[in-house]
Amino acid sequence: MMKYYSTRNRARHYTFRDAVVRGLADDGGLYMPEFIPKLDASFQDSAKHKSLAEIGLEVLKDYIGDEIPEAKFGDIVKDAFNFPAPVKHLYDNYYILELFHGPTFAFKDFGARFMARVLGYFVKDYEKELHILVATSGDTGSAVANGFYNVEGIRVHLLYPSGRVSELQEKQLTTYGGNVTAIEVDGSFDDCQKLVKQAFNDTEVREKLNISSANSINIARLLPQSLYYFSAINQIGNSAGVRFSVPSGNLGNLTAGIMAKKMGLPVKGFISATNKNDVFTKYINNGEFKPGLSERTISNAMDVGNPSNFERLMKMYDESHAEMIKDITSFTFSDNSTMEAIGEVYEKSGYIIDPHGAVGYLAAKEAKSGVILGTAHPAKFGGTIEGILNMKIELPEGLNAITSKKKKVVPLAANYSTFRDYLLSHK
Ligand SMILES: *Cc1c(COP(=O)(O)O)cnc(C)c1O
Repeated sequence: MMKYYSTRNRARHYTFRDAVVRGLADDGGLYMPEFIPKLDASFQDSAKHKSLAEIGLEVLKDYIGDEIPEAKFGDIVKDAFNFPAPVKHLYDNYYILELFHGPTFAFKDFGARFMARVLGYFVKDYEKELHILVATSGDTGSAVANGFYNVEGIRVHLLYPSGRVSELQEKQLTTYGGNVTAIEVDGSFDDCQKLVKQAFNDTEVREKLNISSANSINIARLLPQSLYYFSAINQIGNSAGVRFSVPSGNLGNLTAGIMAKKMGLPVKGFISATNKNDVFTKYINNGEFKPGLSERTISNAMDVGNPSNFERLMKMYDESHAEMIKDITSFTFSDNSTMEAIGEVYEKSGYIIDPHGAVGYLAAKEAKSGVILGTAHPAKFGGTIEGILNMKIELPEGLNAITSKKKKVVPLAANYSTFRDYLLSHK
């Protein structure tokens, strides 16, 4: 059966359940599977006639073992991945894998919907409520809120940086109510992330409350992100030459892609695309990892100064920079180039690409081809795009409905003792 270890201590082992319920290990490390299971060589062929949910079942089952009964796990997967992820051709050798057809219109629905259902299964016989703490720069929060909304036994606390998410993103975060509380932090995304980390390192808080995370640091968020790489290759067919271009922030998507490669995904390599928050690009290019503060850009879900999944990536390459750069290249782009790219893609293909995808497109151009991960629906960034393309971007129905709902938040200073008091008031 699959066991998990902490990236800070390879010697200790945890069950999948422990890893999912705890989120972050006691030593501050991230959970990783002991080994990456290999898929049967026949998988890629036999996947030809399979749905996303069926691919999901194959890709995920060895990570879960018998910790969830097979039939139940089948239902979880079917229910979590009930929307399509089509590959569309842009022009020449450029393709986009559209990952934004879930309920919150960004790829984070994959991880959040899966994790919510897995955790819902694990906590159903707990006495105390489970508190999920999430720091979000936008899309994580809405995916988590949607995934967990009304899941019994679970209460969600979303911390987001005041004034640094789009109006629409804010509506997606703050209009649920019920078991979902939105906390508007007077600070940056890094401040939000720090508050959550401090809570996890606070023994008294951990003793009094059952807490867990749902950021891309939770292993149940990460694992399901491998499956759409298989689905994409499956749709494109001839795969020998494919490179995926991954718009990167916390490096969850990239890490899941590397896991897919280690499972047997036939792929040439990965391109990590960053905005001016380029710590990872610098690491790939010069071997030095120097986390910093995040800076604001128009691809705001990638505004991360200290990408948390870096620790996991390092484990998969045995801490070797030389090994990592065999699989991964990385490029960084300014907001100006990103805006130009949105115009260029539209001009060449008629396709409206969102700012995150546009950074991915620019990185793919460095390799002269690529399958770009379309991480968000363009309508989520309508304001930016309308200014560039001079046209009206229609909101899809599901997004339109929330614009009239009322924002409900708990305001919070970026200060741990205040956050701690807030948390302890829930014990
Ligand atoms: C979260 C997010 C990213 C960054 O993904 P990571 O897995 O954190 O690297 C890119 N684009 C969008 C739209 C996102 O929401």
